Amino acid sequence: MERTWIYNAAKMVGQTATFKGWAKSVRVMGDKLAFIDLRDGSGVLQVVCYKPDLSPEVAAAVDSINTEYVLEIEGEVKTRGAKQVKEGEPTGMIELAAKRVVVLNTCEVPPFEIDKDTSGINEELRLKYRYLDLRSDRMHKNIWKRSAITRFVREHLYGEHFQEIETPILTKGTPEGAREFLVPSRVHPGKFYVLPQSPQQHKQLLMVAGTERYFQIARCFRDEDQRGDRQPEFTQVDLEMSFVERDDVMALVEGMLIDLVKKQSPEKRIQQVPFPRISYKEAMEKYGNDRPDIREDKNDPNLLAFCWVIDFPFFEKTEDGGWTFTHNPFSRATPEHREALMEKKDVGSILTSQYDIVLNGFEIGGGSIRNHEPEALKRVFEIMGFSDEDIQAQFGHMLEAFSFGAPPHGGIALGLDRIIALLQDEPNIREVIAFPKTGDARDPMMGAPSELPEKALREVHIKKA
Ligand code: ASP
Repeated sequence: MERTWIYNAAKMVGQTATFKGWAKSVRVMGDKLAFIDLRDGSGVLQVVCYKPDLSPEVAAAVDSINTEYVLEIEGEVKTRGAKQVKEGEPTGMIELAAKRVVVLNTCEVPPFEIDKDTSGINEELRLKYRYLDLRSDRMHKNIWKRSAITRFVREHLYGEHFQEIETPILTKGTPEGAREFLVPSRVHPGKFYVLPQSPQQHKQLLMVAGTERYFQIARCFRDEDQRGDRQPEFTQVDLEMSFVERDDVMALVEGMLIDLVKKQSPEKRIQQVPFPRISYKEAMEKYGNDRPDIREDKNDPNLLAFCWVIDFPFFEKTEDGGWTFTHNPFSRATPEHREALMEKKDVGSILTSQYDIVLNGFEIGGGSIRNHEPEALKRVFEIMGFSDEDIQAQFGHMLEAFSFGAPPHGGIALGLDRIIALLQDEPNIREVIAFPKTGDARDPMMGAPSELPEKALREVHIKKA
């Protein structure tokens, strides 16, 4: 018999149907009656097994069932008795009177209760058995919400004439401040790819290619020490646009986020629209940091206070007295500081066109208008103390590309994991990622990272043959 999803069950009162799923819970009431809460990917259905109505084989199958057994159950969908009704639940008015029950698979006793909110369970254990944790109601909802938000973003950007383009995972480093993961090349002894910390260079090269509006739900990799709620791999909504100014990118992102909240988290309220803009200087003076939490009421779980932070210094001093960039070396200086950049004077007061977006005190994204003039980009690296040879070796390909008619362009990347966590009221991004790493970058389920056989290391030339 055709399988019916539980979300369709409420429409089937009076009909016989077959459902498949897991025994979320089993309650045995004396020797005649058992209740099974059957869970599938779409919901939970109460199943009543009244043994006197069942064949001896089916009754025996019912007796064998434990939590998380995989079941196929055929029965009649009925309205519940008045005392059994659970208002507000999608299947709270109905139940299934079982006629045929087949155990499709058994299940060991789970290492923790899946039936309850698992947020209080030891996280190492949850991550070791992530596939069980993901069966729990809260995690199931979070991962569904993630899928819905990702879909929303895609559709919104397609509606704004963006193209979705995948950029390479095996690539060359981009100097955006974080340490990169290295991948040794087997066919080119002694050479390495790196995993991208962002698609920054490729998305800019797409602008040179005439793409005009690019986006990607991009996995990014950063080999950083444990620092707060970070993951070595995370997801950005990465986008880039040609022939735009700062306000164009900000308006596009603002419109998307407002619509996202309205459609995906209607219970939330945005404190102020348009999102306020705060200069870096003001943020530091008033809030002591550059991701100000401007909520009027920090106890209101449904309040979302977005703001932009702008006018960041382009450069900051390094420990050895030189200069490095604060955000992104590919950014353009603000128009009034272009001359200072070109002449490499007053370096400390040059401002960048960088804009960060902050939500309730968390940085949820950042971007900038880029330096599309090769000479100006070269100045940035010169200020940072790169020799001409270094600039050529590391960024020659970008400078060359920009010499072939690069349009003015700019973009942004939004931290998808963080946005979802905030909308789902989750305290950390691990709660909205299907298979995250621990705080110290391990995967206890797969056992990654792991040691490799000597032979594998010799093949990639990181151990001598
Ligand atoms: N590549 C930058 C980042 O990952 C974002 C951008 O400037 O578009 O933070």
